[in-house]
Amino acid sequence: MRIILFGAPGAGKGTQAKRLETALGIPQLSTGDMLRAHVRNGTDLGREVDAIMRAGHLVSDDIVIRMIAERIAAPDCTGGFLLDGFPRTVPQGEALDRMLAERGLVIDAVVGLDVPDEVVRDRIVQRRSCPKCGAVYHLSKLPPKVADTCDRCGTKGLEQRSDDTLEKVNARLEKFHKETAPLVQLYGPRGLVKTVDGMSPPDEVFESALRMLGVAKLAKRPALARPSARTASPRTPTARKPAPRTAVRAPAGKPARTVKARAAAAKKATKTKKATKAKKATKTKKATKTKKATKTKKATKAKKAAASRKPRSAAGKQKPARRR
Ligand code: AMP
Repeated sequence: MRIILFGAPGAGKGTQAKRLETALGIPQLSTGDMLRAHVRNGTDLGREVDAIMRAGHLVSDDIVIRMIAERIAAPDCTGGFLLDGFPRTVPQGEALDRMLAERGLVIDAVVGLDVPDEVVRDRIVQRRSCPKCGAVYHLSKLPPKVADTCDRCGTKGLEQRSDDTLEKVNARLEKFHKETAPLVQLYGPRGLVKTVDGMSPPDEVFESALRMLGVAKLAKRPALARPSARTASPRTPTARKPAPRTAVRAPAGKPARTVKARAAAAKKATKTKKATKAKKATKTKKATKTKKATKTKKATKAKKAAASRKPRSAAGKQKPARRR
């Protein structure tokens, strides 16, 4: 499956991409993470994009398109991938279409995370992360237990991303509405866009996304880690607690089933299917054997009959003894 996660900065794309990556077994391709790695490692590309990213502007289409073209050609992307933060402009979307078409592939779904701008601003400005393990916090809704210290690994000195200030967030939001939002016109007419309410707790967003993707059977459910500040919703003051796993809304007229129950049902169905297949195979095998045995028996009988007829006919052909 080739999926695009679509939404404003801070809508929770990264958090959902990580969960979907585990559940669907396909890699998350985040252009933001790739570019930040270049900056961290001081590569030529990193030096080129550092100032642009700090200002909250978009890196040139050429750079990100090249980066993605290289990445999707890697063997781990053969079974599909999840794009997080790409495409971000219509030319990037068109370039992606061309790249995929060259391989005879298409985008299967675009999952849009819908979050109002004021929530995005709050989430991003108060976002802090651990420089060592990457755990994400929200200063007021999801603060670390000990100030400025990571709950998960104990590292002191949580960091704020250089582009997470109010001024930069405003610039990023403006870019999103002007350059990224029009991408809906590219994918909408193909019926690919499925919008999820990004204000719900992360677990609910995840399950809605799975449902919209038509994925009932989970390969492996991701561990319910602390919900990240990126997706902590102001409507849910209990964002620390994992949401109950009964959040899947059932289709009208059908009983509600959890994702867990769906996975169990799918497992049972597979088991029954396997058993039926094995039974059928045994039956076919037995029938073939019986048929073969009958054939052999018949052939032996015919052979025997022929053998018993032979001497008689040979005798019949004998010339009558000459009379002396
Ligand atoms: P993100 O982590 O996705 O919010 O991206 C962080 C920054 O990386 C953005 O503000 C841009 O400067 C840059 N960036 C990431 N993805 C793209 C993209 N597809 N096109 C242009 N710039 C990007």
